[in-house]
Amino acid sequence: MKTLKLFLMGLLMAPGLSLAQNTFTHKVGTCDVYLLSEAQQGVSTKLLIGATPEMLKTYAPGGTVPNSMSAYMVRTPDRIILVDAGMGSKITDNLAALNVTPEQVNDILITHMHSDHIGGLLRRGELVFPKAQVYIAQPEADYWNQDQSRGGENARRVMEAYKERLHFFQPGQLEGTAHEVIPGFKSIAAYGHTPGHTMFMLTSGDQQLLFWGDLTHAMAIQMPCPQVALTYDSNPEQAITIRKVVLEYVAKNNIPVAGMHIAFPGMGTIKNANKGYTFTPMK
Ligand SMILES: [Zn+2]
Repeated sequence: MKTLKLFLMGLLMAPGLSLAQNTFTHKVGTCDVYLLSEAQQGVSTKLLIGATPEMLKTYAPGGTVPNSMSAYMVRTPDRIILVDAGMGSKITDNLAALNVTPEQVNDILITHMHSDHIGGLLRRGELVFPKAQVYIAQPEADYWNQDQSRGGENARRVMEAYKERLHFFQPGQLEGTAHEVIPGFKSIAAYGHTPGHTMFMLTSGDQQLLFWGDLTHAMAIQMPCPQVALTYDSNPEQAITIRKVVLEYVAKNNIPVAGMHIAFPGMGTIKNANKGYTFTPMK
């Protein structure tokens, strides 16, 4: 009991960690970045594509790997920005724990339009963030609008509900041209998981953080083996190619990353390893 109490006190006293609300804080220049986690869970290895029995035995012996469902909030000196809005189960509670009301959210950047990333934008058909401007990559919007047989009702519902405050942009390139979608945030194409899947690079002063969306879903196996894909990837081959390019880039340039399905604390650094890459969570 005493040990448990000391352990909990240790967690409570750890900088940036809030036990009750599942948030984590990290500073990028003059910005504060917050993890807004809605679930910490395991993802079944049955959802993986291309994992050999040896890989599974080595990196996922229990049949699942750690995963989360998260969004992020960034507080700049003058704005409150969300990167994705989660599935919606806890987004407003997590914001409330940071003393932020939905009306205070200025901008929402969307990595892609799966329901675990845009579910938090609507509640019973109503706008959850009535004053926010919402930014979606043009190819992503086009994908969900062009062929309704592939699903995407939620995506279309969100775009219809927010149409007065919706902005479309063409994502830039990792090495090359990338324009700011809003001040401090550049968009970078990372197509594969969905046809318009987009990452956002936050730059403040000389610091950066790459919000890489769903570049990975199963870090424990996709770091050593980036060639493993997921059944939810709309184009697994393309997802694998861009994952390798991005991992090499952030490792080479020492750029920390944040991912919507990286287990708590959701942010960390990537390094080259003998086999693939390693991920070191932030402390
Ligand atoms: Zn996702």
